[in-house]
Amino acid sequence: MAYPGLHVLTNALATKVLLDDERNVLGVVYDNGGSLHMVGVRREVVISAGAIGSPKLLMLSGIGPAHHLHYHRIPTLVHLPGVGANLHDHVTVSGLTWTTRPGTSVTFSSLLSVKTIKEYLIKKRGTLATAFGIDVCAWTESEGDEPQWPDLQHTFSYLTLALDHGWEVAHVAGYKKEVFEPYFSEVAGQEGYTAYPEVLRPKSRGTVRLSSGHYEAPPLVDPNYLSHPDDLRLLIKGIKFVMAVGNSTIMRENFDAVFNTQLLPGCEEEPLFSDTYWACFVKNMATTSYHLVGSCKMGPEDDPFSVVDHRLRVRGVSGLRVADASIMPLITSGGTNAPTIMIGEKAADMIKEDWLGVSQGHPEHRVPRPVNERLGDKTSPVFILISLRARLFVKLSRVFTPRGETRFENPANYLRPLKIVVVREREVPLNTSLVSVRFEMIYRLSRFIPGLLVRLLVAVGLRGTNDHDYDASDKLLYQYDFIVVGGGTAGGAVAARLSEVEGWRVLLLEAGGPPPPESVVPGLNVVLMQSDADWSYFTVPQKHSLKGYVGKSCHFPLGRALGGSSTINWMMYVRGNRRDFDNWEAMGNPGWSYDKVLKYFKKSEDYRGVRRPDTAFYRGVGGPASVENKRWGTPLMHAILKAGRQLGYDVVDPNGPEQIGFSIPDMTTRNGRRGSSAESYVRPAAFRRSNLHVVMNALVTQILFDDRKRAIGVKFEQYGKVRTVLAQREVVVSAGAVGSPKLLMLSGVGPEEHLRRHKIPVVVNLPGVGENFHDHPSIFGLTWTVKKGSDSVFRVVRPQAIEQYSAHGTGPLSCPLGVEVNAWGLSEEGDPYWPELQYLFVSGTPAFDYGLFITDGIGYTRELFNKYYKSLIGLQGFTVGPMLTRPKSRGTIRLRSPDPKDPPLVDPNYLSHPDDVATLVRGIKFALTVGNTPALREELGARFHSQPLPGCEREIPGSDPYWACYVRHMAKTTWHAVGSCKMAPPSDPFGVVDHTLKVRGVSGLRVVDGSIMPLVTSGNTNAPCIMIGEKGADMIKEDWGVLPG
Ligand SMILES: Cc1cc2nc3c(=O)[nH]c(=O)nc-3n(C[C@H](O)[C@H](O)[C@H](O)COP(=O)(O)OP(=O)(O)OC[C@H]3O[C@@H](n4cnc5c(N)ncnc54)[C@H](O)[C@@H]3O)c2cc1C
Repeated sequence: MAYPGLHVLTNALATKVLLDDERNVLGVVYDNGGSLHMVGVRREVVISAGAIGSPKLLMLSGIGPAHHLHYHRIPTLVHLPGVGANLHDHVTVSGLTWTTRPGTSVTFSSLLSVKTIKEYLIKKRGTLATAFGIDVCAWTESEGDEPQWPDLQHTFSYLTLALDHGWEVAHVAGYKKEVFEPYFSEVAGQEGYTAYPEVLRPKSRGTVRLSSGHYEAPPLVDPNYLSHPDDLRLLIKGIKFVMAVGNSTIMRENFDAVFNTQLLPGCEEEPLFSDTYWACFVKNMATTSYHLVGSCKMGPEDDPFSVVDHRLRVRGVSGLRVADASIMPLITSGGTNAPTIMIGEKAADMIKEDWLGVSQGHPEHRVPRPVNERLGDKTSPVFILISLRARLFVKLSRVFTPRGETRFENPANYLRPLKIVVVREREVPLNTSLVSVRFEMIYRLSRFIPGLLVRLLVAVGLRGTNDHDYDASDKLLYQYDFIVVGGGTAGGAVAARLSEVEGWRVLLLEAGGPPPPESVVPGLNVVLMQSDADWSYFTVPQKHSLKGYVGKSCHFPLGRALGGSSTINWMMYVRGNRRDFDNWEAMGNPGWSYDKVLKYFKKSEDYRGVRRPDTAFYRGVGGPASVENKRWGTPLMHAILKAGRQLGYDVVDPNGPEQIGFSIPDMTTRNGRRGSSAESYVRPAAFRRSNLHVVMNALVTQILFDDRKRAIGVKFEQYGKVRTVLAQREVVVSAGAVGSPKLLMLSGVGPEEHLRRHKIPVVVNLPGVGENFHDHPSIFGLTWTVKKGSDSVFRVVRPQAIEQYSAHGTGPLSCPLGVEVNAWGLSEEGDPYWPELQYLFVSGTPAFDYGLFITDGIGYTRELFNKYYKSLIGLQGFTVGPMLTRPKSRGTIRLRSPDPKDPPLVDPNYLSHPDDVATLVRGIKFALTVGNTPALREELGARFHSQPLPGCEREIPGSDPYWACYVRHMAKTTWHAVGSCKMAPPSDPFGVVDHTLKVRGVSGLRVVDGSIMPLVTSGNTNAPCIMIGEKGADMIKEDWGVLPG
């Protein structure tokens, strides 16, 4: 039943509770879709934002510990030291694992079998009918005066955390790889169970604190686990109990239960099963039960740390209550959801009693005058209830599988995209997740299972997808001639080319693993986004753009695997415009003009497409990187080319001397399989030449310098161990436009002030490191419906498509999802043949997947999808993305902290230059012209989706201000990060490398990757990065005398 008096507003992030001078609550400010709104309240505001959200909102409103508020420059309205204190949780310990006889528990395949699914669908029974893994709970008598008030709960789960061989459950649980792999090696894939002892009344207490005074900033969540020694002692007691259960006759004889006796890495020194071993085990494996409570404690007036009284009224304020788990003075002895429902019910009753005198209660506090009397507002709501849950879901769904840089090492990263920072416990280093959100786990599992199936199917169905078995971790030498950091597009090329010199020993260090099997299939490109092959960064909230995106931030994918971004990119092979390179040279970088770099484009390429007489000279043959014509397209593709012709544009090969025109993109594929630099450069070289060592899963944390500022080696971390390796000749950094400046700064090369702020010793003050960061902003969302011709994007999953691809390497799976045509129009400003915009035509509308994945993956707000795209569900169509080729806006890469595992602050600062908006508006108009050609309008029935964009309704649709608003809402990354270690002459104070890519102010160090571009090229950036790698390798060879200069 819908109550007419209840209004529900989703995606509304409360940012502040408003109080008058007498500390009566007036209302609430909230952010809805990027703009702030205010709503007044007539009686009360009730905060139910949870144990993290509630204290955060109170503090943002000036209610909390005065010194903390003062630190964040928030005026203190009520000094309440208890706000954010008393945070606690049921600390548990994970990893206590038994194997059992086959048939007694579950295997991964039985969890997902057709039988299991049928059983659930038909009978609503089986493993899918219960929460994942939960079987039995036990409570044991406690040691104190009240044995019936248990101090431990023991949950038995019918699966082991290694049932999937460490593919995903380990990540969800948050294990370090170097702990997980050895510890679970004996039990991986076997049937069994896990026991979780849980301290029911922990004595450790933590805090929730603001990290800044801005409501978007993540709070600092510090549960401070095990800081009280009794918690550790109780967990050891709990372990002994579950060991006794596992040792019982029934478990041993009926189920063949055998405990996993592998010594836990880090605890090998302690005798197995001794108290000291278990203490070490607990310190390493203790983790959250997801039961955070207590941070707005209910308590009597004389408790200086109480936040609310027994009727949940916030102390010192009138008209404000907190009603959620945060009010618990001490956590309950079991799951916390039912008690929290009870709190909600009781709070509602108490409110009714206080205002209406109903129920048995008596109004006993000063009833505030309804605010509408004070404000004269008759329309404001009677109560405002603030719950962050809806917001949490939006964030979660936007995030998919957020895996930051510290995927294995710090699962707290999973929370970062939720704007929650977990502070690590200092005294007791924990390996596993400190705190997490149950939704997160469920969401990740629901996403990982289809991804896993795809991976399995590809690995089994396509031969050679896993053929990267050349990791040289166990052969590591003490010293090499060259160390290349980052095995991406450019780094792969550099390492392979340097190893051509027989006497040189070359080491390639890559933070990620081998390319995942599914990466070879071009049509599966979207499943790689936010997968384990992606660093999964997000931009910081943008000031001038991304207004239609959740949190004004977008996902910023970058490859974290051998092959780097070429392992996850969309494979379009576009070299750019000859003027791009002539301009680089004109900017003071000799040797980089088009004529000079053409040699390297040709050297790298093995062009297997149809050779056109006008461009045959420009294409290379026999190089490592195979380039093919796109192998499949919808009828729409041909219609777009026709539309271009109707506007006077030829079908061109843009990789020839001129670029203007329409083209079906060439792809870096070989026989329809992705040709990343891992496939084309690294693998052949590693198998062919023993002087190239490739080491994967190696995160380089520091470049080492001697006292003459010569780079002499690097430190890297692999499986929890820090290793050092030396370079006799040079260190080459090819970690990409985000990774390279980050590593330089971590090593003391960068803007002095920034380094000092993070207490990093300065080797050389280079203010340009991390500056000049830019990318091609493009608009994703200009959409047309068509009557026919665009096909369904779901075509990739049709059996014919799979057969076509596996037998012939053609069909929809042979090209990236939806990609049809690229176009470059004549430029309206400056040289007309140096295009200011590129247009990508994609088949399908943003609603093609019914709003299930793309919306959240791209990051549109739900409101935008619902109001703008929902009506397109089920319709055929196409989308045009105008992309700014030479943006004027510049952003930065900065360190978030001196911890190498912390993701950096990625700030592209999109659209900060007004010209960028004006140019994109021109791009929209050109796209509209194309959509209006007879080829599209008449032959395919194309109709522009002209509904006003939410957020721009105030502008006249079609006017320049409307399109400018559209641009600021919809422009986002095109994934072409460059420029953050700019190549420049000595006269440019912001240059980082010279024209031979040597880093200024030090020796023995170069940067060779997309970060050196002084200005991005007028097209997709992978081919130019290959060229940079090729040219970089030749310059190194020249400098060391193995190639004539
Ligand atoms: C989703 C997506 C789609 C794209 N589509 C296209 C396209 O269709 N066509 C096109 O031309 N371009 C495309 N691009 C852009 C193009 O792929 C990149 O510009 C190019 O790959 C960048 O090359 P790079 O060598 O500079 O960096 P990367 O290829 O990103 O390589 C950097 C490598 O360094 C590693 N690394 C970073 N830090 C460390 C460290 N500390 N220790 C060890 N290793 C480290 C990374 O894991 C990575 O492997 C796309 C990019 C993305 C992300």
